[in-house]
Amino acid sequence: MRIRDNAINGVTALFAEIVAPEISEAPTTLGQSGKAGIIKSCLDQGGIQATISTDASWSNDTASFQFRLAREPAAIAFPQDKDQVAVALECARNASIKVSAIGRAHSFQGYGYGNPGNLVIDMQAFTDLSFNNFTNQLTFGGGANVGPAAKYLWDNYRRHFPHVRGSHVGLAGSTMGGGFGTTSRFLGIPTDNLASIEYMLYNGSVVTAGPGSDLLWAAQGAGPSFGIVLSATLNTHEVPIDGAISYSLALGDVEVDAASTALLKIQKWVTSGQAPDELSLRFSLGNFASAGFFYGAEAEFDQALEPLVESLRSIAPAANLTKTVLPSFWDSEVAATGAGMNDPTGGQLGGRASLVQSWTVTSDNALSLKQAKALLQSYHSLNRTDIVGSGFLDLWGGISRNITDSDTAFAHGKNLWLIRVDGVANSGVWPSDGSAYMQALLEPFESSLKKSAPLRSFVNYVNSELSVKEWSSRLYGKNFAKLQKIKTGVDPKGLFSGYGLAIPAK
Ligand SMILES: Cc1cc2nc3c(=O)[nH]c(=O)nc-3n(C[C@H](O)[C@H](O)[C@H](O)COP(=O)(O)OP(=O)(O)OC[C@H]3O[C@@H](n4cnc5c(N)ncnc54)[C@H](O)[C@@H]3O)c2cc1C
Repeated sequence: MRIRDNAINGVTALFAEIVAPEISEAPTTLGQSGKAGIIKSCLDQGGIQATISTDASWSNDTASFQFRLAREPAAIAFPQDKDQVAVALECARNASIKVSAIGRAHSFQGYGYGNPGNLVIDMQAFTDLSFNNFTNQLTFGGGANVGPAAKYLWDNYRRHFPHVRGSHVGLAGSTMGGGFGTTSRFLGIPTDNLASIEYMLYNGSVVTAGPGSDLLWAAQGAGPSFGIVLSATLNTHEVPIDGAISYSLALGDVEVDAASTALLKIQKWVTSGQAPDELSLRFSLGNFASAGFFYGAEAEFDQALEPLVESLRSIAPAANLTKTVLPSFWDSEVAATGAGMNDPTGGQLGGRASLVQSWTVTSDNALSLKQAKALLQSYHSLNRTDIVGSGFLDLWGGISRNITDSDTAFAHGKNLWLIRVDGVANSGVWPSDGSAYMQALLEPFESSLKKSAPLRSFVNYVNSELSVKEWSSRLYGKNFAKLQKIKTGVDPKGLFSGYGLAIPAK
C-alpha cells in the first residue's frame, strides 16, 4: 500500500492524484461475526492492534456519550500511524465492510461507531498539535480533543480558536459538524475556521484539501463522508482582551406568554444592531434566563445591556442582570467549557441516553411571537417521569451576517438562532416510545416554523430520526447536489457510507 501526501485544489485535481483503486470484492453473504473474524485476522497480519466483540476490553472500546444507540461494529482498529490506517482500510475493502472513524465518541447520534458491522478506526493515537508562527494556524491530529488543543494554543501562543463547549469532545468531529461556541458570534464557527484538512481516502491515498478545493468545502459540514481525517488546520485568533464578563439575565417568575414576548425583545435588541458581536447569549427554555460571556471591557458591556434590561423590565419587572468579571480569558474558557480544559486528556467522556433535535432561524426569517410561543409551550408540555427536557436558544448572528449558504457545505448563512431541545432519559435507559414522544412534543413549533421558511438544522445537533430527504434539506439545502457529486468522485465505492448522515452518491 502506497501512501502519498498531495496538496489539492479541487475535485478534478483530486481525481488525478489518487492511486488506482485496489478494491477486491469479497462475498457479502457472511454474517457480522464471520466478517469480524476475517477483518480481525487481516488486521492482525498487518500488525494493527484491534478488538472484536469477544474481547474483554470490548465494552470499554465501544464506550459512547450516547447510550440510546447500540454500538455493534465488526471490529475496532487502533492504528498508530498513517501506514496502519491505510492497511486497515485495505482490510475493510477486501472484506467489503464499511469504515467509520471514532474521534472522542461524543456524537449525540452515535455516528462514530456508525451502522452495525462497520470497521471502526479509533483515532486516539493521532493527537499531535503544532502551531505555525507565520500563518498563525493550529494543526491538530484527527484524534485530538478540544481542551488540550485550546490549552496548548493559549499557554504557548496566547491565541484562541472558536470551539464547542465540551473539553473532551473531538476536535475533528466537532469542527466538521459546526462547533458553535461562545466566541462564534465574532470569530465564526470552527467550520468557518477550517483552513485545510488532510484526509486518507478510500484507497489509502493521502490528500490535503486546501482553500478553494471542493473537498475542503465538503468537509465543512459533511466531513466524515469522505475519508479518515489524519489532521486538520484551523485559523486562530487573538482575543480582544485577556479577561471576560460572565453574566446572567434572569426574568423572574414569568409564564410562557411573557417569556415569549421577552425573547422577542432580545431578538429585536439584536436585529436592531445593539448586541455587540463579542457577546454570547444562551436563552434557557427551562427558566427563561439568558446567560453568557462578553469578551470586552466592562463599561462596554454595561452600556450595551442597559437598554435590553430596561425593555425586559416592561414585561418582567423582576428582570435582573448579574455579572462577574473574570480576570483572564482562560478563566472564561474553563467557565464555558468545563474543568477538563485544564486536564491533559480534556476530562471524561460522560454520557446519557437522549434524543437531540435542533433548528436554526435566519435573520431574514426571524422568530415571530407565534413561533416563540409555540416553542416555549411545546417545551413546557413535556409531561413524563422517565424523560427530562433540556433546551435553549443560542444567539448566533454576529459575523454570520456576512456568510452565505453556499460558502460551506453546511448551509448556515445569516443564522440568527441555534435552537436545541433534548429529551434525556432519567434512568440512563431510553424509553422505546421516547423518540416519537419528543418529536411529537416539538411538532407544533416545527410546523409553525415551516410556515415562514424551509426548516434548517445544525449538523452536530441533528435529529438522528430524520429521513435523508429531511436532513439533507435542513443541513445542506441547495448544497446537497454538489455534495453528492463530490461523494461520487471521492468515495466511489461508498467505503465511508456506514453512518446515518452519509452523503449518498449521485
Ligand atoms: C458534552 C458535549 C458538549 C458538546 N458541545 C457542543 C457545542 O457546544 N457545540 C457544538 O457544535 N457541538 C457540541 N457537541 C457535539 C459535538 O461537537 C459533536 O458530536 C462532535 O461531532 C463530536 O466529536 P467526537 O470526535 O467527540 O465524536 P465521535 O462520535 O467520535 O465523532 C463524531 C463524528 O465525526 C467523525 N469523526 C471523528 N473523528 C474523525 C476523523 N479523524 N476522521 C473522520 N471522521 C471523524 C465520526 O466518524 C462521526 O461521524 C457537544 C457534545 C457533547 C457530548
